[in-house]
Amino acid sequence: MIAGNCLCGDVSFTVNGPLGRATACHCGQCRKQSGHHWASSSAAESDFIIVGPIKWYEASATAKRGFCPNCGSFLFWKAHDEDAISFSLGALTEPTGIRLESHIFVADKGDYYEIADGLPQHEKS
Ligand SMILES: [Zn+2]
Repeated sequence: MIAGNCLCGDVSFTVNGPLGRATACHCGQCRKQSGHHWASSSAAESDFIIVGPIKWYEASATAKRGFCPNCGSFLFWKAHDEDAISFSLGALTEPTGIRLESHIFVADKGDYYEIADGLPQHEKS
């Protein structure tokens, strides 16, 4: 089981189940909301326990983004047509036991950095 929380601690969550890929997303929305690329993994919605007042922002017609309404920590991303929730790796209690696997949406990355860690890079997801 893994656990995480926002900066102020009002929102906490646990995940008890298999995790999806750990990726760094370079899309424009993730960069705007996180301040840089967004590192996340995912799990089935039914494997989450989320405690606290999460606020969901309808970022597009296809997905919403969850954050703490008190401190603003960006914690979750969820596509409307999937039963999985992506969660911020930076919010996790360490040791996480997780390693970043790849970069996604690198076609949309910012112009102020290079990706040089040798991990696979995907134009989209
Ligand atoms: Zn908070």
